[in-house]
Amino acid sequence: SLSDRLGNVFDSLRGRGALKEDEVRAAMREVRIALLEADVALPVVRRFIDKVTEAAIGQEVLRSVTPGQQVVKIVNDALVEMLGGEDGAAQAKLDLEAKPPVIVMMVGLQGSGKTTSTAKIAKRLKETEGKKVLMASLDVNRPAAQEQLAVLGEQAGVATLPIIAGQQPVEIANRAMQAAKLQSFDVLMLDTAGRLHVDEALMAEMKAVAAVATPKEVLLVVDALTGQDAVNVAQSFTGEVPLTGVVLTRMDGDARGGAALSMRAVTGKPIKFAGTGEKLDAIEPFVPSRVANRILGMGDIVSMVEKAAASVKEEDAERLAKKMAAGKFDLDDLRMQLQQMTKMGGLGAIAGMMPGMKKAKAAMAQSGMDDRVLLRMDAIISSMTAKERANPALLNAKRKKRVASGSGTQVQDVNKVLKMHQEMSKAMKQIKKMGGLKGLGALFG
Ligand code: GDP
Ligand code: MG
Repeated sequence: SLSDRLGNVFDSLRGRGALKEDEVRAAMREVRIALLEADVALPVVRRFIDKVTEAAIGQEVLRSVTPGQQVVKIVNDALVEMLGGEDGAAQAKLDLEAKPPVIVMMVGLQGSGKTTSTAKIAKRLKETEGKKVLMASLDVNRPAAQEQLAVLGEQAGVATLPIIAGQQPVEIANRAMQAAKLQSFDVLMLDTAGRLHVDEALMAEMKAVAAVATPKEVLLVVDALTGQDAVNVAQSFTGEVPLTGVVLTRMDGDARGGAALSMRAVTGKPIKFAGTGEKLDAIEPFVPSRVANRILGMGDIVSMVEKAAASVKEEDAERLAKKMAAGKFDLDDLRMQLQQMTKMGGLGAIAGMMPGMKKAKAAMAQSGMDDRVLLRMDAIISSMTAKERANPALLNAKRKKRVASGSGTQVQDVNKVLKMHQEMSKAMKQIKKMGGLKGLGALFG
């Protein structure tokens, strides 16, 4: 496992301070092998390693954790991010915001689990969201495919379109749409045929159905156990039909979860559900952090580093609180904040995380601030002297000019930084009034 692999590298990572490039690269060589062993597709592994290497080099090692543990956390976070991020649960929901009947179309290779997943999802929609669902099988290739769906529908307590022998997929789709409309169904699920391999006839059939049904969701069903092959499948379907999400089946098997990472990277679409067995209840919303843990297998270290980070945050917040109490929130503190923001994923990521900062945020938005601006502000503050940073009032017109030319910006940019500092000092006083430390903790992400 990755823990064994990284063990040796970790022992050699003894330095304090920032993570060094050669250390990071050595660790990444092991991560790379572990990902390949977890069946992640090679191009995806490459992309992932590049991203993580860049993120890790130079990152400060938290007090009380080892550099190796910190690398694990960085890798974990990147995995979670690449699998859909922390708000995976929100993305796992089907988008059914449309005039009913809303159409959900299932596509994928034969045996991937389309029919089973159709029934599982229909049952879920009925039971958890109270939706009235109709299912229709458009699989006219496989003998008894339509009967299979009818049987599952009976088990799930979900209606299926009556079977009429001899109809072609597009005809069945049209009939299903009519029935769903007439009988006021909320959702119509179309289970399509698959072949053993992606071929033109299959794609043509799918496109024809998609053209008449204009589905709100098109879910690609892939077998997690097929690992590398799953990528080829995803690649062939992407671009042919307007995919909106992925269902990953057989996650109950011994799949290491690598397919999940590949799927997300190749299709760019969220993985909405994971199939975890043959029974109709064996389906779960896809949870990125859980799958990241499965790929990495180092949940203990990850939560340990998270705890360490939380305690550092507390210490930082306390230190800042003391400064505030003394009326000493200076430009060095602002710079620290900006660097935190950049680390936390930029302005977009932190919007809404800052209590009492509405005014400052509005000011940011007004000045057209984006993440490059964070870097520019950092450059501006770096061009000031230590004295100026500690006492912004020193910055008269002449000094501002010097700072502007030193940072390759304009005096008006320097003014924006000073304005922001003022807004933030004001907001901080407000936070303090509102109850202090807790609010401040949030500022440090
Ligand atoms: P289709 O050809 O894509 O429609 O695939 P089916 O829905 O007929 O599924 C093929 C087989 O895979 C069936 O025996 C299913 O019970 C099984 N299957 C589907 N999803 C899962 C899953 O998540 N876990 C397990 N263990 N089996 C599954
Ligand atoms: Mg089927």
